[in-house]
Amino acid sequence: MININEHYLKLKSSYLFADIAKRVEKFQKDNPKQEIIKLGIGDVTLPLPTACIKAMHEAVDEMAIGDSFRGYGPEQGYSFLRQAIARDDFQSRGALIEPDEIFISDGAKCDTGNIQEIFDTGIQVAVPDPVYPVYVDTNVMAGRTGMFQEGRYQGLVYLESTKDNNFIPALPDRPVDLIYLCYPNNPTGATITKDELSRWVDYARTNKALILFDAAYEAFIKDPDLPRSIYEIDGAREVAIEFRSFSKTAGFTGTRCAFTVVPKNCRAYDGQGKEVSIHGLWNRRHSTKFNGVSYPVQKAALAVYSPEGQKQVQANIDYYLANASIIRDKMQSLGFECYGGVNSPYIWIDGGKDSWSFFDDLLNKAGIVCTPGDGFGLCGQGFIRISAFNSLENVEKAMARIEKAL
Ligand code: PLP
Repeated sequence: MININEHYLKLKSSYLFADIAKRVEKFQKDNPKQEIIKLGIGDVTLPLPTACIKAMHEAVDEMAIGDSFRGYGPEQGYSFLRQAIARDDFQSRGALIEPDEIFISDGAKCDTGNIQEIFDTGIQVAVPDPVYPVYVDTNVMAGRTGMFQEGRYQGLVYLESTKDNNFIPALPDRPVDLIYLCYPNNPTGATITKDELSRWVDYARTNKALILFDAAYEAFIKDPDLPRSIYEIDGAREVAIEFRSFSKTAGFTGTRCAFTVVPKNCRAYDGQGKEVSIHGLWNRRHSTKFNGVSYPVQKAALAVYSPEGQKQVQANIDYYLANASIIRDKMQSLGFECYGGVNSPYIWIDGGKDSWSFFDDLLNKAGIVCTPGDGFGLCGQGFIRISAFNSLENVEKAMARIEKAL
C-alpha cells in the first residue's frame, strides 16, 4: 500500500491567492463591464531590462553553434555569475563573501522552501507573523509542526510583528534553533536597521541558532544606512544563510534566477554537538537535487551587473518605488495608517476593520484587488497589503477610484 506523508494533510486547505481569485471571479461575473485593477499579488509588470534581453539572445545564439554550445553547467552556477555577485553585491559593501559561497538557483521560493530539509526534524523553528507562507508550509510538510489550530500551527514559535514593535519582532522568549527573517519584509514593507539586525545575530551566536535571511527585496533599499545583506553585520557569517533573487530586482519572476549564500564557516551541529559545515551539506543537497539554471538565463542575470544593466534595473526599481509613494500618500490622505512603501514595494495598510471586509470594500466599491493581511498570519488581521508592482497609469487610476469610493 502506498502511504502518503501525513504531514501534508495538516496544511491549511485553502490558499490565500486561491481565495482571492474566487472572489475576483465572482465579482467579474456579476460586473462584467467593470475593469479590475490588481494590486494584490507581488509579481512585476515591467519587461526585462534590455541589457538582460540582449545578453540572453547572444547566449541563445551561442547554443546554436557547435563550438560554443553548452550542455549541463555546474549545479552551483557558472563562475562568471558567482564572481559578479560576490564582487558587486557583497564585497563592494564590505561583506566578505566568496564566489564559491554562492549557489545559483531557479528561485528564492525553492531555496527558502528546500533549505529546511538539511536540518533535524526536532529543531525549534521560529517564523515571523505575518509571514511569507513558504517558510511555514515547508516546515509543516517536513513534520516540524502539529495541527493548524486557531490560525497557527502548533509547535512553531511565532515572532509577532506589529505596529507596536515597528514590525521588528522581539527576540524569542524561549530558545529557538532556526529563525526566518525577511527584510525588506513581505508583507509589511518594514526594513531593519543594522543595530536591530545585530541583536538577532547576537541571539543566534549565543543560542547556537541559525538565521535564514530572506533579502529578496534588497534592491528596493534606497536608504544608505540600512543593511542590504546580513553579512554587513559582524559575526553573521557563522550563523546566517541569505537568500536573494533576480525576480523583483530585475523582473526575472518568469525567467527564474536567484541565489543562496552559505558561508563556508556557517555552522550547525550533529547529534553529539560537534560542528558541521552547512556549506558542505547544502552543496551536496543542491548538486544531488538540482541541475543548474540555464546558460542563457545566467548570462541574462550577469547583464544586471553591467553598467547599462545597473542603470536599467535602477530605473525599474525607481518606477515601482514612485508607485509605492503614490499609494502610500493617497491612502494616508484618506486617513489610513500606512507602513512600508519606502525602501520596499509593499504598503501595509491598517484598514480599521477585518482584513477581508476591507478587501471586499475595495473590490466591490472600486474594482481594486489587494491582499488581505490575515492571509499572512494572525498579526496581519486588520491590515491589507497593496503592491506597487503595476503601471503608473493603473496605480493612479486605482487611487482615484479608491478616493471616490471610500
Ligand atoms: N521571498 C519572498 C519574501 C517573496 O515575497 C518571494 C516572492 O514573492 C520570494 C521569496 C520568491 O522569489 P523567487 O521568485 O526568486 O522564487
